[in-house]
Amino acid sequence: MAAENTPIRSSCHCGAITVSAPRLPEYINICQCTICRRYGAAWGYYHPDEVKIETKPGAITKQYIWGDRDLSFNFCDNCGCVCYWWPLRPPPGEGGEYQMGLNTNNMDPEVLKYVDRRIEYSVLKSRVRSKDTAHADDPATY
Ligand SMILES: [Zn+2]
Repeated sequence: MAAENTPIRSSCHCGAITVSAPRLPEYINICQCTICRRYGAAWGYYHPDEVKIETKPGAITKQYIWGDRDLSFNFCDNCGCVCYWWPLRPPPGEGGEYQMGLNTNNMDPEVLKYVDRRIEYSVLKSRVRSKDTAHADDPATY
């Protein structure tokens, strides 16, 4: 297990995009929302200031922004791995927690062995603002 103060590194498959975090995530969310289940992402959450994103010269980070346009999904243009999502605006309300999501599937599985994994299926049927914020095939309600 990584020492408390050892940065934990994540890397896309080709190594063009790496993201380092200062600690293990509190838990890993295997998010079942309309898009994350398609990505097969397993998110660890951090404050945006905590992580360090590095891209190799010439590497291209592609973005996918949809629905409420609250965040962007960022993936490597070369190997296609989903690396992280990033907030595009402050969280709603006072004291909302400003966070980003780091795809822990791009980390060394060994360091994540004892991190709690969560799968929340109720999100599949969660209420969304409009049809525009759900995939047509999803059972979300409006
Ligand atoms: Zn890559």
